[in-house]
Amino acid sequence: MIVITKFGGSSLSSAKQFAKVKKIIKADDKRKVVVCSALGKRNKEDSKITDLLYILHAHLKYKVSYDEVWNVIYSRFTDVERELKLDINIAADLDKLKSELNKDISEEYLVSRGEYLTSKLMAAYLGFEFCDSKDLLKFNYDGKLDEEATGKNIQDAFEKNHQMVVPGFYGSYPNGQVKLLSRGGSDITGSILAKYLGASVYENWTDVSGILAADPKVVENPKAIKEITYTELRELSYMGASVLHEETIFPVQSVNIPINLRNTNEPDNPGTLIKNVCEDTNTLVTGIAGKTDFISFDIYKDHMSNEVGFLRKAVEIFEKFNVSIEHIPSGIDSFSVVVSKDSVEKYQYDIIMELKNKLGAEVNIVNDISLVAVVGRNMAKKSGICAKIFETLGSNVINVRLLAQGPSELNIIIGVAKVDYKKTINCLYNALLG
Ligand code: ASP
Repeated sequence: MIVITKFGGSSLSSAKQFAKVKKIIKADDKRKVVVCSALGKRNKEDSKITDLLYILHAHLKYKVSYDEVWNVIYSRFTDVERELKLDINIAADLDKLKSELNKDISEEYLVSRGEYLTSKLMAAYLGFEFCDSKDLLKFNYDGKLDEEATGKNIQDAFEKNHQMVVPGFYGSYPNGQVKLLSRGGSDITGSILAKYLGASVYENWTDVSGILAADPKVVENPKAIKEITYTELRELSYMGASVLHEETIFPVQSVNIPINLRNTNEPDNPGTLIKNVCEDTNTLVTGIAGKTDFISFDIYKDHMSNEVGFLRKAVEIFEKFNVSIEHIPSGIDSFSVVVSKDSVEKYQYDIIMELKNKLGAEVNIVNDISLVAVVGRNMAKKSGICAKIFETLGSNVINVRLLAQGPSELNIIIGVAKVDYKKTINCLYNALLG
């Protein structure tokens, strides 16, 4: 049995954090593969190595002196080596990188050195083999993963090495050039390795003990979720809960490998388990999430309900301006189109004009709508949740501006005015999860 572990930047910010990682790895000999992010922040004021490398590249591009930022990067790595009493001469790698610094160095290559050097230190510290992701994760020129080559490379490397450390966040194109994933992409590296090695679980170690049932910036001390399905996680993340890189789940979900979110600073906490199916049928509501800053276009026309194709024509106007629609709550001769403020900012008045002139509709704009989602896999099987939500909102004098329940009944979405946003989440949390 193999467990894939991935450690985020805050789990790798200093020699002290490296020691915690080692303790975790040595506590279970199934933990044979370790994916590393780059050294992260040691405290709030500190910088992530990845950010410093992006800044370094900008200095090179605009031909400004980069000594200061380079020295910080240099000492972050050499400090860890010295404090852990390693003897791998990381300075030689850094000197080589320095000799490659000029305005033509690829940003992707330079930034990838964060995870590369961090993983070299970790491999030496654990006594595991270092395997460069450039030789494992292969991408086509269109950016798609070459699944066959990647699968084979990963399996061959594991067969040869048995215990390995792999840098997250990058792979390579067919010509060998480094391809960087999007920010936070080491999560995806771990997921890909878990898939091709048939891991029993993919452990993702960060600095929080799993997914919280609500945003701690909104609800004081929300509880952690013990188990959640992939689909629930998708709903919560889409509605604002930031957990994993959103593409992380696809490789492991397709082959039924659970993800376990764990806290490096609290290793005894079991964290959150994310799976395809959760057996527990007692938990009705899993979590509450929300997003602010939506606009509702309220569209009216007499006898609209008799006019075949009216909705399509209205939706096409939004499509023309490349605006993605969140919800379309509807009445008989009216419906609303809810979109994010960001997406529509530039075209709001053009869209209104087209709706009026081309379709003869009356349009009202409602600004500052916030959406709150109550998510739970077991809600569909039980009655009374909606009653409880409305009773809670009513008794707290919160006016519901719109309501949407998807066909999967995995979530109930409530639109409220922005001023009621935090109050809504708190009241619902206390009533449904508190
Ligand atoms: N170090 C990269 C970042 O900061 C990738 C990662 O940590 O997943 O985005």
